[in-house]
Amino acid sequence: MTSLANTSLNPAALDFLERIERQFHVDDAQLQIIVDQFLKDFEAGLNKNGQALPMVPTYVTHLPDGTEKGTFLALDLGGTNLRVCQVTLLGNQQVEMKQSKYRVSDALKTGEAVDLFNYMADSVDHFLTTTDVAPGAEDEDLYLGLTFSFPVDQTAINKGKLIHWTKGFMATNAIGHDVMQMLQDALDRRHIHVKCAALINDTVGCLLSHAYFSGGCILGAIFGTGTNGAYVEDFTKVTKLPKGAFEGTLPKSMVINIEWGAFDNARKVIPRTIFDNKLDRESINPRFQAYEKCISGMYLGEIVRNILLYLVDNSILFSGYSSKQLNTHYGFDTELMSNIESDKSDEGRTVREILTEKMGIDDQSIGPNDIAIVRWACKIVAGRAAKLSSCAVAAIIHETHCAEGNEDFLDVGVDGSLIAFYPGFEDGLRESLRTLVGESIEKRTRIGLAKDGSGIGAALGALGALKAERARAG
Ligand code: BGC
Ligand code: MG
Repeated sequence: MTSLANTSLNPAALDFLERIERQFHVDDAQLQIIVDQFLKDFEAGLNKNGQALPMVPTYVTHLPDGTEKGTFLALDLGGTNLRVCQVTLLGNQQVEMKQSKYRVSDALKTGEAVDLFNYMADSVDHFLTTTDVAPGAEDEDLYLGLTFSFPVDQTAINKGKLIHWTKGFMATNAIGHDVMQMLQDALDRRHIHVKCAALINDTVGCLLSHAYFSGGCILGAIFGTGTNGAYVEDFTKVTKLPKGAFEGTLPKSMVINIEWGAFDNARKVIPRTIFDNKLDRESINPRFQAYEKCISGMYLGEIVRNILLYLVDNSILFSGYSSKQLNTHYGFDTELMSNIESDKSDEGRTVREILTEKMGIDDQSIGPNDIAIVRWACKIVAGRAAKLSSCAVAAIIHETHCAEGNEDFLDVGVDGSLIAFYPGFEDGLRESLRTLVGESIEKRTRIGLAKDGSGIGAALGALGALKAERARAG
């Protein structure tokens, strides 16, 4: 087994753990089945709304090339903080930025949506009054790009209705409402001269920003609190768009926000464990975001917590004792897993410290094998997440045919705490990507951290909207 070989666990305990580990194993054939299902779901989602994958047309029709210029505001909601930024695109793949962060309390996440949007507008106001912001062109409002990292049903670059919340947000009276309008109304009530010009998902921002700095990008992907991806699709394949959905000449391509967190909500292809089922059942959105719940930072710690408690209950861990913190729903943060796996020392001093100090486990009940068991639990959960993540990347390589007929690098722009910081996550993803697309394509795949997709990407989105507006005005 992965990491329990050197312990003094008795055969019965080892066998018990082995059976758990097997549940988390996804073999190559299963990975391939997942990729195939992705491709089917892409097609279904591009044909019709309400399918397994939302495949949201974003009305972004071009990728930047680094020569773009202009000053824009960006507002970013959906990660850890609310952020307001002023981004100046200098062309030549350079930017200048100013930003402020604002805390989004749980009360705002779960209260009335109008309060949340008022708070966003207040934050913009605060930013504008405390920061030395370059004004828009004469008499012109500042153009704002909103990075809104939730699924929306988009009908224009600046229009989109929230489909549902994810990642612990559940503010009321938002679902089915146009989030850009809600923000614009809140700004207007405050007489703030800012024009909400572009609504973009964080994955779209990631794609745009990475393209600005790298000259190209096949996929923008987030592996953080949540997970999702966006890519450039042939416009002719986006058959679900109603005739007249697009003003003016039809574009050649359109960026699609996949909303892949929703993959396998039907529970057909991802092997699931009792720990996943428990997590889902106890979540605020049971049966939704099935793929995300196996992959993203919001959930991995909770899966590990479920495993640890199961082992405690079976008297295999911590001499059968738990703690208040370990008994608390979402009480074991994914960041702790990351810290635990970063400690490569024999004695595992950091692991013990986390268990006693952060998790409140009594030092006396930590047995000689327990450090190894905790490490093992983190590893099987994160390892599976990395593997499953590779399926989405492989599916995009197939869908876009980007590796065919050339020897170019395939640039993937990524962001999020897992891919940026979790030890071994990218390696694990690459390892199974290799089995899925072959070694030569895997080697050509350049996975790079996108520079502030939610800030710079939103600015690029706002610039795109401004250009389109000017083109229509003639
Ligand atoms: C949301 C996506 C977002 C992703 C990463 C998911 O929960 O549905 O819209 O892109 O998280 O932030
Ligand atoms: Mg973010």
